[in-house]
Amino acid sequence: MLNVNNIEVVYNDVILVLKGLSLNVREGSVVCLLGSNGAGKTTTLKAVSGLLDSEDGRVTDGEIVFMGDRIDNKDAAEIVKNGIFQIMEGRRVFKDLNVEENLIAGAYTSPSAKVKDYIDKVYTYFPRLKERRTQLAGYMSGGEQQMLAIGRALMAEPKLILMDEPSLGLSPLLVKEIFNIIKTLREKENASILLVEQNANMALAVSDYGYIMENGKIVLEGTSEELVKNEDVKEFYLGSG
Ligand code: ATP
Repeated sequence: MLNVNNIEVVYNDVILVLKGLSLNVREGSVVCLLGSNGAGKTTTLKAVSGLLDSEDGRVTDGEIVFMGDRIDNKDAAEIVKNGIFQIMEGRRVFKDLNVEENLIAGAYTSPSAKVKDYIDKVYTYFPRLKERRTQLAGYMSGGEQQMLAIGRALMAEPKLILMDEPSLGLSPLLVKEIFNIIKTLREKENASILLVEQNANMALAVSDYGYIMENGKIVLEGTSEELVKNEDVKEFYLGSG
């Protein structure tokens, strides 16, 4: 459903960050993008979601095709309408709104008649959000805010969800919970997810396919089963060389 073909991304007309990067996401699959700090993972997600523009970044070569449409350098709002939703690093929720208001705000592209059904669905995935439906988001724990950020994305009924480091800053128990939810979304909702993670163990455990990037390019790709067995991946990313 998503084909990123040989893209180059430049910030401020000078800094070349992606240098011919290609990747694909098939419908109904979870694909992870791994790599060290500064490799260009977040930049890749922003190129797909159109958020590069707000940081003076541009796709200067190659193309991004989503379900048959060219979307490189398209407006972020247009790309959301096409069905791609990015959950940003650092849990962007509206801190002054309560849980349910945050969810409703996430549904701005959805038909209003469906909003209640969507809220009920999010609550079945995240019973904790239901318990805290009237609590201000700003007072929730990091893990709860991450759940809310995922819940908000679901309210927009996206075809493809881009997740940037959902495990960042969470306790091991909550990390497990978040990854279980990703697994469930894949199994029950046939969700398509492109996941950027530092936690390579968890990411490979929930994904079908993985890409490893270094310095703006993909250096290795394969099914997650292949990657967990790969000696280089073990040594550099799984901490068990
Ligand atoms: P991390 O895991 O540390 O978040 P990453 O793989 O997601 O890293 P990016 O955030 O995509 O990497 O950054 C890749 C490179 O692009 C870095 O060298 C970074 O300094 C540079 N970069 C990112 N955003 C900008 C920007 N707005 N302007 C200029 N350079 C940028």
